[in-house]
Parts: sequence; structure tokens; C-alpha cells
Amino acid sequence: MHYFQYRNNELYCEKKKVIDIAKEFGTPLYLYSYRTITEHFDKIKRAFSCLDPLICYSVKANSNLTILKILVERGAGLDIVSGGELFRARLVKCPPKRIVYASVGKTEKEIKEAIDYGILLFNVESLPELVRINKLAKSLNKKVDVALRFNPDISSSTHRYIVTGKKETKFGMDIDSIKHIFSSWDNYSSINLKGLHIHIGSQITQAEPFIRAIKRVKNIMDELAKDGIYLDYLNIGGGLGIVYSEEKPQSAQDFADKVLPLLKGMNFKLILEPGRFIVGNAGILVTKVIYIKDTPIKRFIIVDAAMNDLIRPALYGAFHRIEPLRKRADVFEKKLSDIVGPVCESGDFLGKDRELNVKEGDYLVVFGAGAYGFSMSSNYNSRPRAREVLVKGNRTYLIRERETYQDLVRKERIVSI
Ligand code: PLP
Repeated sequence: MHYFQYRNNELYCEKKKVIDIAKEFGTPLYLYSYRTITEHFDKIKRAFSCLDPLICYSVKANSNLTILKILVERGAGLDIVSGGELFRARLVKCPPKRIVYASVGKTEKEIKEAIDYGILLFNVESLPELVRINKLAKSLNKKVDVALRFNPDISSSTHRYIVTGKKETKFGMDIDSIKHIFSSWDNYSSINLKGLHIHIGSQITQAEPFIRAIKRVKNIMDELAKDGIYLDYLNIGGGLGIVYSEEKPQSAQDFADKVLPLLKGMNFKLILEPGRFIVGNAGILVTKVIYIKDTPIKRFIIVDAAMNDLIRPALYGAFHRIEPLRKRADVFEKKLSDIVGPVCESGDFLGKDRELNVKEGDYLVVFGAGAYGFSMSSNYNSRPRAREVLVKGNRTYLIRERETYQDLVRKERIVSI
């Protein structure tokens, strides 16, 4: 469900013609729908409302400040993974007690900053990290609340790069390490052990892996309860999949219906960390055809967006639906084509073997680009990063300016050696 729809062969975002926005703001351009973002957030909130969960939007999916502000003002917390994301959370005035902090490599500086701000929970990913947080909390004369990230060793049918709940991955701790920490709790006098956390991966379209993971983490909670240890929080992470092509992902309500029976009656606050589910289909990447290049082997539609703007196809072989912004009635020669950018890598493609009826100068739209799109973009090939625009009804808001060449070199120095 999203508010990018064709009417009379013309793509609209909410009430605005996308072609008008593309002409006004130029390309490549990330375009987001306010209504899609907020409705997706509301859907998760409603589906789990009986438990009144804290929904910590995962900043990494799309960290634009306006998007964060919209969600925080709607009651979201934030799931962060770096000092930079904490900085963003502070800029949008996210209350500290709505922030949870994962990452396997939190540095001392980052830990101190988060302690200073008074975040709700560190999601601790290893014993050395726990030791470090304890030491720093002691030096600051503070008592810090943490959840331990449990790696439930669950496989899920998603790309291997975005599986995080298998024991071969760097994330979280196995059951024995978790038990060891509980049994040696007296060593950590500056930490309160408040909860457990799992996050098994991303773009998971079935409920079943989540159910297996939740059952495993619940077993640990039950064992602890037998020893008189009651935790305040269970964080079941993010990972809900969305439609990119033919997927049939569960709705928020289907997911809740399957998961809630496992959680009801338990005496803790539930935390969720959705990212992709909220913003994935709320964003598109608009690009313009620069050239159509025919070779003896195939046709290349060369566009002004590239792997530096959207790396998912190059990195994961991810599929994104690509369509003309304005569907032409006049059919000229259609040919299977690769849609590629100007970057000097053969991996620089947005789509392969697509049949598109386009000419030089036409606009194309890459759907499902709202999550891990702009936030994973780079300046590779010294390409300034795209503009970001948000539509609400029939209004457009520029929420990030296009970078200039000057921005590219701002931090560099030409040193005479
Ligand atoms: N929580 C953690 C700890 C993550 O690492 C991620 C993404 O990698 C998320 C939540 C968000 O995942 P998704 O965007 O698939 O919902």
C-alpha cells in the first residue's frame, strides 16, 4: 500500500504529478509520500495496540531529519546504531527514553554520548561491550539500563547480507553467553539488566522465523523468571518485509495476530524496531534517461541515477520495479534493456532485462526506494548526492538540498608535500 499511483498513464504522488516535481527539482530525485509513511507507522501501532508497544523506527532505513521528526511527533521512538544517528535523534528532539541503541561496535565516545543523553536502553551485543559500558557508567557515576541482544540462530529466506539472527553472523550473543552474563551479574554494578533484544534480519516476508525467534527468547525469559529475575523489556526488532516485485508479505495485522499470542500475559514492555516497513514503499527514485545505447548484445538505458544513489541492486542484486513516469501511448521499438547509471562499474545498474518504452529525455521511476536508498548513498565517482522531496497532499517540501561540487571537497585539503 502506498500513494504512488498512475492516473491516465501519469504517475502521481498523493495529489501531485511526479513529472511536475521532477521538472521543478531536477533529477536524480528521491521523493517521499507523507501519507504512506504515517499510515505504515499507524498500522504497526494499531496492530500491536493491545500491548501499547514502543515503536522505535530504525533510523538507518532513512535518516532524513524531516522524516524522523514526523515519526517522533507521532509517538515513535528511534532505534539508532551510531553517534551520528544519536545526533540526528537529538536534533529532532526525540525524548531520550524513546531511544534504543544497537551496534556491535559502539566506541567509548559513542557510549558516553548516549549515557549523557540518558537513552532508554543499550542493546548490548557482546561481553566486552558490556564490560566497557559498565566501566564508563561507573566513571560517569551513572547507572545505565541495558538489554542483551540474543542471537537466536534462526535462518530466514532473505539475502545473506541482511540475515542477522544466525550464529555465523556478528550480531548478538548466543544462549550460553547470555546465561553466563546473568550468572555473573554482580560484576556489573553500574548496569541494570532490563531486557532482551532480538533482530533476526531484514525483508523477511513470513511470520514463521519471527515466531521461532520469539519462542527462543521467551524461553530465556521464562528461565530467568524461575530464578526470580523479571525483565522490563522485550525488543523483537524490525525486519518486516515489503513488496518489491511479486512478494506477498504479511500485513502488520497478520504479523501481530501470529505474534501476539506468544506475548500476551507477559509483564514487560514490548519494543519493535521497524524500518523498511515504514519507509520502503513510501519513497521513489526519479531519474532521467540520458542516452539509449544499443550494442550487438543488448540495449542500455543510461540514466542520471546510479549505484551511488541506490546501491541495493549492485549490493544485493535487489529487484526494484522501474517504470516510465509518464507511460507513452506511442509504442516504438521495445527491447529488453539494462537500466544503468554513469558510474564506472559493471555493477552499476538499477535494473536488468526490462522491457521499457522510453526515449532519451524521458523520466523513469524506481519504486520501493524509500528504505536503504538515500541512507546508503555515497559520493562515489564524485557524484553529488540527490535532492530529497516530501509530498503531503498537494504540497511539496524540499527536505534535503542536492549536494554541490563544493560540498564534495569541503573537508579535503590540497597539501603541498
Ligand atoms: N533493528 C536492528 C538492530 C537492525 O539492525 C535493523 C536493520 O538492519 C532494523 C532494526 C530495521 O530492520 P528493517 O528495516 O528490516 O525493519
